[in-house]
Amino acid sequence: MPTLLDHLVETLPGIGPTTGRHLRERGYATIGDLLWLLPRGYDDQRTPTPIDRLQDGQYAVVEGVVRRARSYPRGGRMGFEARVAPKEVQSEGSGYQELKLVWFRAIPGLGRRFAEGETVRVAGKVQDYRGTASMAHPESLPADAPGAIEPRYPEIPGVRRKILRRAIRAAVDRAAAEVPDLIPARLRAAIGVSTMGEALREIHVPDPETFAADLDTPHLAHQRIALEELVLWELALRLRRASERGGVAQGFAVGPAVSTASAAFAFELTPAQKSAVAEISAAIASEAPMRRLLQGDVGCGKTAVAMVACAQVHAGGGQAVFLAPTELLADQHAETLRPTAQKLGLRVGVLTGALSKDQRRSMLDRLATGAVDLVVGTHALLSGEVRFSNLGLVIVDEQHRFGVAQRLRLGNRGARGRPHLLVMTATPIPRSLALVLYAGLDLTSIDAKPPGRIPVTTKMLPRSKRDTVIRQIARAIEAGGRAFVVCPAISASDELVGVDRTAAELQAEFGNERVGRIHGQLSGEERRELMRAFSDGELQVLVGTTVLEVGVDVPAANLMVIEQAERFGIAQLHQLRGRVGRAGQRSACLLTFVEPISEEAESRLEALCETDDGFVLAERDLELRGPGHLFGYRQSGASGLQFASLAQDQTLLGRAGELADRIIGNDPNLSAPEHASARAAVERWERNAAVREDAG
Ligand code: ADP
Ligand code: MG
Repeated sequence: MPTLLDHLVETLPGIGPTTGRHLRERGYATIGDLLWLLPRGYDDQRTPTPIDRLQDGQYAVVEGVVRRARSYPRGGRMGFEARVAPKEVQSEGSGYQELKLVWFRAIPGLGRRFAEGETVRVAGKVQDYRGTASMAHPESLPADAPGAIEPRYPEIPGVRRKILRRAIRAAVDRAAAEVPDLIPARLRAAIGVSTMGEALREIHVPDPETFAADLDTPHLAHQRIALEELVLWELALRLRRASERGGVAQGFAVGPAVSTASAAFAFELTPAQKSAVAEISAAIASEAPMRRLLQGDVGCGKTAVAMVACAQVHAGGGQAVFLAPTELLADQHAETLRPTAQKLGLRVGVLTGALSKDQRRSMLDRLATGAVDLVVGTHALLSGEVRFSNLGLVIVDEQHRFGVAQRLRLGNRGARGRPHLLVMTATPIPRSLALVLYAGLDLTSIDAKPPGRIPVTTKMLPRSKRDTVIRQIARAIEAGGRAFVVCPAISASDELVGVDRTAAELQAEFGNERVGRIHGQLSGEERRELMRAFSDGELQVLVGTTVLEVGVDVPAANLMVIEQAERFGIAQLHQLRGRVGRAGQRSACLLTFVEPISEEAESRLEALCETDDGFVLAERDLELRGPGHLFGYRQSGASGLQFASLAQDQTLLGRAGELADRIIGNDPNLSAPEHASARAAVERWERNAAVREDAG
């Protein structure tokens, strides 16, 4: 039954089709979704700070009188600045005597609101600029209203902060009370916790009467939501285990194929790879269906390990499927796997959307008759119509999209039992998290990279330093390498650096014929051709969006430029950086940022500059942003972990486990009416997972 929670975000004040689209792109389509966009912290606007007590780097609300204001031309546009002095004369102390407000890009109405003599109230981050206190793009507050506690939401590209805040506020008023509780009322009363609606309201609209600035978040509400998330996880985990328990797989004997395959590469497997091979081959030799996660940092060599498993299955008469997150990657995997596969006598097929109807039919035939031993494709490959002669192993390369594989409907698929499943992920996560995130999967880790890898030299610099960027690209090309340039958007906008202008700039510099552009709006065919040209050196610079993010393997690539890197998360940046230096050559990564940059974004970029170690970065990310972001979840409703910290909330996790047991104990299918919302939550979680899968 649809509720207010299902209403589209466009029904909220201030959200038009464009903002709506930006929200949707981030997975926030409905009012219910928006309620789960939780603040990272709060700006306390209750008490203005006197101008002479402002500190560099502080978030502050300031009241004063505009002394001087002017617009000025700035790079082809108009900027605006205003100087604000205290309303009353301050003591002649050592503090600032005025605050300079700066808009690098004037917005309509500024001149009126910040006219000389006006009393104004603004909020923002104070920066000391050569002895002057200044605030860039401050928020203008009503001068007479009492101050509020403003939640600080994660940035959503294309959505203005103020609009987002207003929309979420309206969403809370309209629909928070409808958020279902999966912990039934009886249990809530027994353990003394509030409803989710109450908790969400407190998180989004904290009470200025009771808000404690030093606690930074409303603690109890935080715990309440974390508990809800963890109970959902624990429930899903129990239900999944129950459904996985059954079934028999084919056992594929370890045999000589494993050592033959291990020796078939141009390199020798590292000890870490060898022990991963040993664990996996033992598991697929058994008749218990393998459900295993192969975890290891970018570049540690998971593909080779997977290939050996395919060879073992093949030797026992089974087929293997290799699923990649994108078509581009599927093609690449097919290319890398093919030489070794052929050497070992495996017939390789590719099944992607790029095939013609006839090609597709013929490939389906060959899969059904067993004329293909290893098929590479996207997740769509496991959609209904595909039949196998004897499917023995499914490999899913998730890169850093989590949780896709375990929700694939593997079934029996014409096999003599359930296929074994191997999930590969490239974002290292602490073991405790992996166990919960991949509930029911066993874990194999590759904890060392092949020898001789030189860490990628990583630097951050303001985007305005174009000559440095150009010089680095020129140098990379001269060394016989290739440069990737990643932008946050296809088309440039006021806020975002785009592939279009960046490519034009670089084409002017290096010549049209050497610079290509790649993004999701091109067809699979066009993208493949671009990748080929880049790989072969016809193109030397490739400007693109994050379609480059996952797995793309161009051994000659030695420079990764990430424009507006502050727009990306740590995991994503680490992935992108992993695209260069793959052949063991010297390589570099430039993280350009557009000022002003938030403290948190700066810490992210610094972390990248300091270390190349994915595990360290994962921990750092966890500290900076909380696990929800680390996991890259785009969730709807209570569908993922945005709030709970599995690493830190161990006590809460234990409590959630007990609650889950009490919920599921006498009602294993959650069919009792009081468990209706728990069942709905688990189902919604599964459904959202399926949507994410379809989106590729
Ligand atoms: P990932 O774990 O990120 O999927 P890949 O499997 O793509 O990593 O391997 C990264 C690169 O390292 C590939 O070019 C691969 O050929 C190479 N490689 C893998 N294993 C070894 C090894 N034992 N010694 C040397 N190079 C290796
Ligand atoms: Mg890989």
